[in-house]
Amino acid sequence: MKVITTVPGSKIIEIKERPEPQISQPDEIKLKITKIGICGTDREIAHGGRADAPPGTNELVLGHEMLGRVVAVGENVTKVKPGDYAVFTVRRDCGECAPCNVGRNDMCQTGKYTERGIRAYDGYMAEYVVDKEKYCLRVPDDLVDLGVLTEPMSVSVKAVDEALKIQAARIPGATYDGWLKGRTALVVGLGPIGLLGAIALRLRGAEVLGMDIVDENSPRPSVLKAIGGKYINGKEVKADTIDELHGHIDLIFEAAGVAKLGFDIIDALGINGIYVMTGVPGADRPADIAAGAIMQQMVLMNQVMIGSVNASMEHNLMALNDMAECKKKWPGVLESIITEVMPYTKINEALANTHSDEIKTIIEF
Ligand SMILES: [Zn+2]
Ligand SMILES: [Zn+2]
Repeated sequence: MKVITTVPGSKIIEIKERPEPQISQPDEIKLKITKIGICGTDREIAHGGRADAPPGTNELVLGHEMLGRVVAVGENVTKVKPGDYAVFTVRRDCGECAPCNVGRNDMCQTGKYTERGIRAYDGYMAEYVVDKEKYCLRVPDDLVDLGVLTEPMSVSVKAVDEALKIQAARIPGATYDGWLKGRTALVVGLGPIGLLGAIALRLRGAEVLGMDIVDENSPRPSVLKAIGGKYINGKEVKADTIDELHGHIDLIFEAAGVAKLGFDIIDALGINGIYVMTGVPGADRPADIAAGAIMQQMVLMNQVMIGSVNASMEHNLMALNDMAECKKKWPGVLESIITEVMPYTKINEALANTHSDEIKTIIEF
């Protein structure tokens, strides 16, 4: 079968021939890959960034956002049957820590987890993949067209879920289901994670402001407006004037991965506010920030700042729920996040496809 490989640390991307994986355990599922999403992580890896090949090799099969069709199942599998559409999650348990042992490898305590397509485990840019049932999620028939967005949606949903759990735990009168209703959230960076975060926030009752630096009439602001969000052009509006222009911001969802902006934007956060970071800037990007003012503000206004990465199986299920609700409430919006679909043979083009009208590029096997 065909796979797409890279040599971590290099810019080599190749289509290669590998033996087709087979089911060898009773809890395994074999998928025929149909779609793979490309994100900033894949592009960073393709530029020689953060990634590891599986032990004993120097080559990694790329890809972690996927959708496939079940072609075979082990004898103990009950979640899916051949013909169903399904996704596999990205992280694999370290086998040593409490979070991993209860199905929360997104909170792995040892840091010894692996990630398919990223860290020491081959990914999904392959014609077929095999994995365990516990990492598999059936995609309902009416969401099959959007199933490839499950992984990025789960990342956005986890970030919102974390913020709500924290706010409900610390603010008198705040509830998990109620806190966002009528409050204002600011999403910084309107790529797929930011836009999917905006959807999750809107579905939970927030007024959503979205900030990016693209033209107002381009696809990203259009998606935001279609769900009732308001666009802020970061080229025209400075971070420290947002609260003056738009009032008290209760939650900031950072998805730009730009270090200086990530800290400058704290200025917009209001009393008891929470700031969730999901972006991953290059580690070699120092920034001049108003450190004293930021620290003073965070202390005097009881603010929380957290980082959030990956997602649990529960978040994946929440993601599918949110996607179904979004489809009902704002038909066509999720579809419009997928801006380009290319055959896998055009992988280099897909990886290089980063113009301002691009949101999510998908490759098909
Ligand atoms: Zn991704
Ligand atoms: Zn672990």
